[in-house]
Amino acid sequence: MRVEAVEVVVAQLSLRAPVHSAGVTHADKATLFFRVVTDEGSGWGECSAYADARSPDPTVEAIEPTTVDRAIARLFTGSVGGNLPSASSVAGVCVGGGSVGEQSVAGALEMAVLDAELRSASRSLASLLGVAHREVGVGDVVGIPPEHDLGALIDAVGAALDEGARRVRIKIEPGWDHEPLSAVRERYADAVLQADANGSFEPGAAAGLRGLDTYGLRCLEQPFVAEDLQSHRALAESMSTPIALDESLWSVARVRDAVQAGACRVACVKPGRLGGVFAAIAAAEACAEAGVECFVGGFFETGLGRCVNAALAGRAEFSLPGDLGDPDRYLAANPFAYLPEESGTVRLSDAPGLGAELRPGVMAAHRTYTRRVDFGS
Ligand SMILES: [Mg+2]
Repeated sequence: MRVEAVEVVVAQLSLRAPVHSAGVTHADKATLFFRVVTDEGSGWGECSAYADARSPDPTVEAIEPTTVDRAIARLFTGSVGGNLPSASSVAGVCVGGGSVGEQSVAGALEMAVLDAELRSASRSLASLLGVAHREVGVGDVVGIPPEHDLGALIDAVGAALDEGARRVRIKIEPGWDHEPLSAVRERYADAVLQADANGSFEPGAAAGLRGLDTYGLRCLEQPFVAEDLQSHRALAESMSTPIALDESLWSVARVRDAVQAGACRVACVKPGRLGGVFAAIAAAEACAEAGVECFVGGFFETGLGRCVNAALAGRAEFSLPGDLGDPDRYLAANPFAYLPEESGTVRLSDAPGLGAELRPGVMAAHRTYTRRVDFGS
């Protein structure tokens, strides 16, 4: 396959309703896409960068155009008029300094190359990744309700469970921890619940956090800032609820450090942050070797990124339900159709490519920026 061009596309998307987590409200979902054009067809990739991203994750503005141009040059300049690089080589070529911004761009370019490669070979992503399960469990996330309204929280958790969610991840923050979790547990005695603090607690809050053991949580995610593995390890050793890490896991090397340090018993693995699906597999394998459970975490992806996440979640290392609900439920407009979902599971696609189909009208209506980098003639 010969590379002809790469298109850089930004679509101005938004969430149907704002989602609040500790210290930030997500509403704008402007999304960066790449389309790799070859002589045998094209492939799409989606970048995990988003408008309200917090450290360690980048915003779209922070990476376009500088990081994007550098990655495209590294990846395709050597192949002017030449062959498409293999998808498994993309992250190694694109990630120079190892920043999360570079990794997020590499992950998106890898996705586009992978889509083109798989379509040309008439192969599905699930087949390439060697998935253990064709049907994967769907978990849901419930944000902090406006004005900390307990009734609204109970209703949102109930709606997620009614839709079949295999677990519900509840966002917490200092001052919004015991009361919401106690109320939800009282109402839904058997629900599988996780709490996600997005790094909002100080290490001095550990004694109060230990009290969350009462609520039978599947895990407590990222109580402290991303850099602080030591406080996570100390808390993990002093509570029965497993500690999960998310923001702390900003690279494959960092995942290895965290699991070897005993800082978590659960890992939220995000291919968009780590540099793509192959990096995510390496991270998950490191977790499996250390006896750490994994789930696939989301960034409110469109159907494109979420299809990749779902296929990844079909691998044996992912024993916990991921953030794999249909983007049509949270995006006001979704430019890529997602997988069929039934009774809390999605069925992976056997179609050639990533499993997501472009909705051209939706993309055209929301596309606010396009530039094309041509190679060869
Ligand atoms: Mg999280």
